[in-house]
Amino acid sequence: MLTPTFRNHASYLLYPALLGGALLLWSSLWLGIGWDADVAMQLVYWAFLALLVILERLLPFEPAWNRNDGQLRNDIVLSILTIALNSIATIVCLWAIEWAISTIEPLVSLKVWPAHWPFYVQVIPGIILWDLGNHLAHRWAHKIPLLWRFHSVHHSAPRLSVINAGRFHPIDIVKSVVIGSPIPILLGVPAEIAECYAALYLFGGILTHANINLRCTFFSRFINTPDLHRWHHSPHPVETDTNYGEVTVVWDRLFGSYVFHARGSRRNLGLGYTVPVSRHLLEAIWHPLTPAGHHAGPESRIVSLPEGVTAVADIALTEFLAAGPPAHGSERVAGVVHGIQVKP
Ligand SMILES: [Zn+2]
Repeated sequence: MLTPTFRNHASYLLYPALLGGALLLWSSLWLGIGWDADVAMQLVYWAFLALLVILERLLPFEPAWNRNDGQLRNDIVLSILTIALNSIATIVCLWAIEWAISTIEPLVSLKVWPAHWPFYVQVIPGIILWDLGNHLAHRWAHKIPLLWRFHSVHHSAPRLSVINAGRFHPIDIVKSVVIGSPIPILLGVPAEIAECYAALYLFGGILTHANINLRCTFFSRFINTPDLHRWHHSPHPVETDTNYGEVTVVWDRLFGSYVFHARGSRRNLGLGYTVPVSRHLLEAIWHPLTPAGHHAGPESRIVSLPEGVTAVADIALTEFLAAGPPAHGSERVAGVVHGIQVKP
């Protein structure tokens, strides 16, 4: 068994070790051995995912999130859709960049990027620039109702884990690529930097959703971390509408949406009853495409755990979630929560 002392020390070291290890392995396969960057990225991604699933059991941030919440099938299907769409989008996007640069660069590129500078000097500004497009795509997904109806499927998860890191509506994925890519392409950022950004986006993205006890206070000042992202998944809009950066926090700091709480963590996540996303997969995909948007009935809505409830003692989490939303206000929640252990 892992002792509390070991878990405590591991929580400080794991975040840089995991993210740095995945990036080092990928870059070694790509630049050291000469593998195709995308093939190496996919291989490292699946190995990384398997490692994180094991660590979620050994060093959970919130043990209650490891229980089946009844959304496992939805999360897996949506993740497969997301991975497929992302792979296609990445290939199309990188092909478009290479084609634009080699064929019609004078027409599409503003030629303001200093491509003649050494790569190591270009890489960090290039990553920050790529993050601008994705930051705007994410921010607008929260602020524009038509986009929020798709992005809210991702926010409907009542817990965070590597399994639901890919829980996105397909339209949400397409939107991110369409809005996120033009800025760096137009400015002429090299395709190699797009590869570096994609690796950070992929490995860092799955890590920010992992249910692993990782303490990232230092890193949260510069890049998106699990600490920051759990606040982004809060059921309270004032907390949700912050920390939009997918990889860095640069644009959140500049635009005033960076929020970091060094003490405390958010453990009740989801949308509560504010956006009634259906827990049925086909409805969750179909409803946002209809004029009415999400319109799940009370019996089929995804339910968040109430404030302060972090572990289930007397009833299974699935039973709690299946109990549905309150008929009026919070009275029924209080009734359903009776029997749940509330941590001080
Ligand atoms: Zn969001």
